[in-house]
Amino acid sequence: MNPQKFSPKPAKLPRRMRALVKARPEPGLELREVPVPRPGPDEVLIRVELASICGTDLHIHRWDDWAQGVIRPPLVIGHEFVGRVARLGALVKGLRLGDLICGEGHIVCGHCRNCLAGRRHLCPDTQGVGVHRAGAFADYLCIPAANVWPADATIPLEVLSCFDPLGNAAHTALSFDLVGEDVLITGAGPIGLMACAIARHCGARHIVVSDVNPQRLRLAKRMGASRGVRADHESLTEVARSLCMKEGFDVGFEMSGSPEALDTMIAAMAHGGRIALLGLQKQPAPVAVNRVVLHGLTLKGIYGRQMFETWYKMTMLVKTGLDIRPIITHRFSCTKHKQAFDLVASGKCGKVILDWRG
Ligand SMILES: [Zn+2]
Ligand SMILES: [Zn+2]
Repeated sequence: MNPQKFSPKPAKLPRRMRALVKARPEPGLELREVPVPRPGPDEVLIRVELASICGTDLHIHRWDDWAQGVIRPPLVIGHEFVGRVARLGALVKGLRLGDLICGEGHIVCGHCRNCLAGRRHLCPDTQGVGVHRAGAFADYLCIPAANVWPADATIPLEVLSCFDPLGNAAHTALSFDLVGEDVLITGAGPIGLMACAIARHCGARHIVVSDVNPQRLRLAKRMGASRGVRADHESLTEVARSLCMKEGFDVGFEMSGSPEALDTMIAAMAHGGRIALLGLQKQPAPVAVNRVVLHGLTLKGIYGRQMFETWYKMTMLVKTGLDIRPIITHRFSCTKHKQAFDLVASGKCGKVILDWRG
């Protein structure tokens, strides 16, 4: 049976739409009118409802060295979103108009060794939505049907709009067994906070979160942290002792991109400890290799999230009670993008959402 048979009649599409564009090779973004993209045979056109702002978007906004090397303006940016199917390419099966969906922002080659083996998150030839091709900060977004994740409509829309970063957090946190383990998280940005909530949900014992931002550390406590640690003036060893930990942390998630944080983490691990690294180091980080060797540590790099096992896991985590809503602190209409980006740049927020409805 062809599920498309029961699709509602497609509404007439406008020719033009609002989109947040990196218009020129300089700092800033512009809300402009651009043509509505037309889906190719294996693509889906999505009416975006909510989209959340990522650190990547902030890099593009600021036009830093990374952005200058990767982004080719003019480009519609953004990759964290939830929306509804507005058009289906002729070859797309299994989706219907109006379906609520999220999308994986990494578009993979499909024919390298990792892709063929089902390890698509490890494809060396990945294209990023809102980085290498038009993104989700727009009324409409076009992506391959293979990148669509049909969303569970019982999950709040705001939470679904954060499934991309929640996927980073879940992919990191679920890298190792957490039951009964003592976990150290360096960096209490939104993904660190989400990883904290997941570790609590999955049965970790102590979860210690370190950051320099007291507001984020308060949020960490709310997300289940046993202790928040001011990385700039508190000793991790003291905190570990006060929690009656004898040999160090069993599991570490490095989310800050700070070389000092990584060094502190390696020093604080128990023998046989396992570290997952998501934060990109802002400068070359010296790694205490001898300690890694002598203490039998495991270091695992994390990029993106598994397609689509992580999406399944996070759906089920949320459905079994994981609540990330306290991490979502601000909402703005897309027309107020300047205020939204200023707030994200200030760091005085959790996740910030842009509303594209209406
Ligand atoms: Zn992101
Ligand atoms: Zn590939």
